[in-house]
Amino acid sequence: MVKTCIVGTGYVGLVTGACFAEVGHQVICVDNDLKKVELLQQGGIPIYEPGLEELVKKNVAAGRLSFTGKIADGVKESEVIFIAVPTPPRPDGSVDMSFVEKVAREIAGAMTEYKIVVDKSTVPVKTGEKVSETIRRYNKQKVDVDVVSNPEFLREGCAVQDLMNPDRIVIGVLNERPVTKMKAIYAPFKAPIIVTDINSAELIKHACNSFLALKISYINATAAICEASGANIADVAHGMGLDKRIGRAFLNAGLGYGGSCFPKDLSAFVHIAEALGYDFRLLKEVQQINAEQIQRFLKNIHNTLWIVKDKTIAVLGLAFKPNTDDMRMAPSLEIIRPLQKEGARIKAYDPKAMDKAREVLSDVADALILCTEWDEFRKLDLEKLRSVMAQPIVLDGRNVFDPKKMAALGFVYKSVGR
Ligand code: NAD
Repeated sequence: MVKTCIVGTGYVGLVTGACFAEVGHQVICVDNDLKKVELLQQGGIPIYEPGLEELVKKNVAAGRLSFTGKIADGVKESEVIFIAVPTPPRPDGSVDMSFVEKVAREIAGAMTEYKIVVDKSTVPVKTGEKVSETIRRYNKQKVDVDVVSNPEFLREGCAVQDLMNPDRIVIGVLNERPVTKMKAIYAPFKAPIIVTDINSAELIKHACNSFLALKISYINATAAICEASGANIADVAHGMGLDKRIGRAFLNAGLGYGGSCFPKDLSAFVHIAEALGYDFRLLKEVQQINAEQIQRFLKNIHNTLWIVKDKTIAVLGLAFKPNTDDMRMAPSLEIIRPLQKEGARIKAYDPKAMDKAREVLSDVADALILCTEWDEFRKLDLEKLRSVMAQPIVLDGRNVFDPKKMAALGFVYKSVGR
């Protein structure tokens, strides 16, 4: 058992805290959003993640997981302190590191003995060195500290499962001293542990997310060629994905990537590279293709509906991907906003991203746009759908339905790259 503290109780921090407690560690979660802390202390859960609520309740009841608004409380009781606060983009796309820096100063102020401080937030390469410097500078008692980079790879929507069964654990260090303790924290997770220098660990995270975004833009660019040539992107992706060197994951053509990580991490990586003297043109193109993907879909909507003013358009799916309530940088918003601006009436439904599910498939809908591939939508009774829509027009931004089946049912059906 290792005594741990997690600063920042969001998607990463809360899930990490719950999973650490689940494998037997003692965990104190800290957040400066006191409403969030109060909610958690009363047994509420501020975010939706499958399996999270049960895990939190179970481990709070077992006395292994607790919540506080004070960093000092967490630091005092813990051997290892994780930082899991936001690293949002600044207007120019570079990373706002002020949250991490503030937490580093607060930890330093509360430290009275040796601690390991672990950065789990996604940060630019060389941050660990800066955090180490900051803690040493602001700790008046000059106690020793080791700073570690331990990037997090969980995916929203299956965060608990990802954290409990990671592909690998990356531990970046400035020296060997914290390695044994870090390995003890992760031993119960039965995943390969990679120990690297701290800069490499930080780079692994940005390099991974940028590569995955690149795969998405690659398949979307290929989808554009499919549309122009009459080929079928589903078959192309299947044929590519069976090649073990490529793999099928992240080859789903659609509205492109969104969410709180990929857009910001890509911008960050471009800026980090620039600061280090390298122009990462490849990633700039990935960003460009992603932005164009939305424009191509909007064009498809206009080609199909001609005029959208005064039309009622049902939108299925708001969250940036299934199984999450996260709306940050969701492609759905980039579809909905311009349509609203042009005078379309939007009736949107999402299983988790809206407080209350509303009936949207009323007989007034002139078209239906699908933005998020929730399983619930795959199971829709299409005949019934056909019968309740004023116009049987479906624009599927996630290729959820079978084009032949949709045509046979009498839908005007448009998807991406098929
Ligand atoms: P989040 O916004 O969901 O949670 C961050 C939490 O930190 C919030 O509850 C906020 O109140 C709290 N916080 C902010 N400043 C604080 C302070 N000074 N003291 C205490 N608490 C403070 O963010 P997130 O999605 O969990 O992301 C956190 C980091 O992890 C980011 O760097 C992100 O890039 C990275 N990350 C996110 C994901 C993901 O899927 N969300 C995956 C991997 C890595």
